[in-house]
Amino acid sequence: VGTLYIVPTPIGNLADISERALAVLREVNAIAAEDTRHSGQLLQHYGIRNELFALHEHNERQRTAHVIERLQQGQSLALISDAGTPLISDPGYVLVQQCRAAGVPVVALPGPCAITTALSGAGLATDRFTFEGFLPAKGQQRRKTLNALLAEPRTMVFYESPHRIVDALADLHATFGAERSLVLARELTKQFETYLSGTIAEVEAAVLADSNQQRGEMVLMLAGAPQSTNSDDTGPALATLQLLRRELP
Ligand code: SAM
Repeated sequence: VGTLYIVPTPIGNLADISERALAVLREVNAIAAEDTRHSGQLLQHYGIRNELFALHEHNERQRTAHVIERLQQGQSLALISDAGTPLISDPGYVLVQQCRAAGVPVVALPGPCAITTALSGAGLATDRFTFEGFLPAKGQQRRKTLNALLAEPRTMVFYESPHRIVDALADLHATFGAERSLVLARELTKQFETYLSGTIAEVEAAVLADSNQQRGEMVLMLAGAPQSTNSDDTGPALATLQLLRRELP
């Protein structure tokens, strides 16, 4: 039985691919890509000529059986997405799940990913964080999603589309108030890489003031809800207070 390799590709800077990724892409029997035209150009840049076939969100379920068949025949395959790490807001989940279920070895390579790149340069707490993917496109759903995160103590990471950044910032402001720390990381690893950081109100004002800040690929990172520094002391006190309330007339 062959191996399925999950291979990250650059999120902007073509020099960010690893030697190991290039070796795997060269040596496998074929490469499954989200968009064969886009990935064809990428592979051409690295001088890799290999069979490419399409595996995207619309055909993943139907293609998976065929891919597993090839793996079971002993072929090794690689999965890549348009940019960054496959399965991270990209196709591949069904394929990996079914390979695991069928006993086909899966080897994931480390590499470029907008989440970790953005977080490591943002200056927000990274000891614990939660990745929320793309915020819903519709306002009402977006506000509902944000509301559910009001008490979240971990740093929150969102992918956002440039078409919705202004509305998303307005909803963040309305939900979390003006003062929470926010970082907008844009065009990471590319020519116009920018980090805008400050309070929600400051980042929103900077984006509204300059339409260039509304363009390109972006990651939003929101600081977690402030934790009371002496929570160890107040926890028992609050519990006692609640007990007393129940007992007292
Ligand atoms: N699989 C990718 C990864 O590993 O990051 C993410 C794919 S997702 C479809 C695309 C989104 O990732 C973009 O809309 C943006 O939010 C984020 N992204 C990708 N590349 C980026 C970059 N160079 N700078 C900032 N954000 C980026």
